Amino acid sequence: MRDGETRICTLCGEEKPLNRKHFYPHKGRKSGYQPRCIPCTLADQRAKLVHLPKDAFEVSRTTMEAAKKGNPAARAVLKRQGVTAIWDGREMVML
Ligand SMILES: [Zn+2]
Repeated sequence: MRDGETRICTLCGEEKPLNRKHFYPHKGRKSGYQPRCIPCTLADQRAKLVHLPKDAFEVSRTTMEAAKKGNPAARAVLKRQGVTAIWDGREMVML
């Protein structure tokens, strides 16, 4: 690593020293670092995590119905998506 190099983050536009304190390493890139600074990368990941459960739920509506009817494969899918219990219309069923 060469000292004194800086990089302008593609997301926040701030110029930061190009090192592991400010950028995550990225083997596939010429510079060896990701184009976004660490805080921006983390914020982006958090944003994705926040959106994930909703998307997962949208995708799994059919799965949810199957799980309510006791389909073990459907229940396994929900579990993988972080669903621990479902409402089957009468009671909460733990998966
Ligand atoms: Zn940034």
